[in-house]
Amino acid sequence: MKLFRTFVFLLCLFSIPLLGQNVVVVVMDGARYSETFGSDSLYMPHVWNQLRPMGTIWTNFYNDGLTKTDPGHATIATGVWQHIDNKGVGRPEQPTMFECFRKQTGAPENAAAVVVGKVKLDILAYSTVPGYGASYKASSFIGSNDTSVFREVKNILSINHPRMMMINLPSVDSAGHSGDWTGYCRAIKNADSLIWNLWHILQSDSVYRNTTTLIVTNDHGRHDNLHGGFKTHGDTCEGCRHILCIAVGYGIQAHHVVRERRTQCDITPTVGELLSFPTPYAIGSSLLHSRGSSEGEPPHQQ
Ligand SMILES: [Zn+2]
Ligand SMILES: [Zn+2]
Repeated sequence: MKLFRTFVFLLCLFSIPLLGQNVVVVVMDGARYSETFGSDSLYMPHVWNQLRPMGTIWTNFYNDGLTKTDPGHATIATGVWQHIDNKGVGRPEQPTMFECFRKQTGAPENAAAVVVGKVKLDILAYSTVPGYGASYKASSFIGSNDTSVFREVKNILSINHPRMMMINLPSVDSAGHSGDWTGYCRAIKNADSLIWNLWHILQSDSVYRNTTTLIVTNDHGRHDNLHGGFKTHGDTCEGCRHILCIAVGYGIQAHHVVRERRTQCDITPTVGELLSFPTPYAIGSSLLHSRGSSEGEPPHQQ
């Protein structure tokens, strides 16, 4: 009997965490680092004051490829710099994390979900690579702004309980392109509230609670003030390249700051490691092995 109990205990220890692990990647479209972590809590009070102490932030995180929406998102989803067009005509040219996950684990389509706020981002669901492609695609949903995307996200999380989800929040980028500084800053604050809200939704769901990793990043920044300012983006300036990255939840060290230079190509291998599937095409490496420092006050208790 004792031996049997030990056996059951070991089985639980080794199998349940792997089977129950989930990852949600949020891409806040086109926020410049100077208005995110570069301003501490000014525009992102919830993420900075509440999520950051519970997780790890990377302060030198970069898009070193094309600083546009489709290439940026496709790089995050594949782990390889994607020099694809920005109009939604070309799909990723390496297998996406969704395809690798489904092909290697046998997971069904609704176990991987993509929810975007721009029609041209529907290309993220699968790549053009033979042997991968539509048979292994993610389920995909299209909204038109942060509010409709978030509504869709809540529905899908509660109905399908996907194990892997990638979300595009489009409103910061649209506000930036309008040239309205106040509107741009307000959109960042709104996204900050939605991300904090999402964390609460995950922690109040019995499937996701304590088994889920939330990663937040950007597809690209925006021009710094020496290269045209916040209204547009797309070149190689520091403002366009430097982006935020924070991870919190399962498998992530609390109250940790990593200053080593990392890139968008490291997200897919991180998701692969968290969900225990290989990402052989990705050129980056898992962020779980970043060397950083734990600083400041102890993390807040949830
Ligand atoms: Zn964008
Ligand atoms: Zn620029």
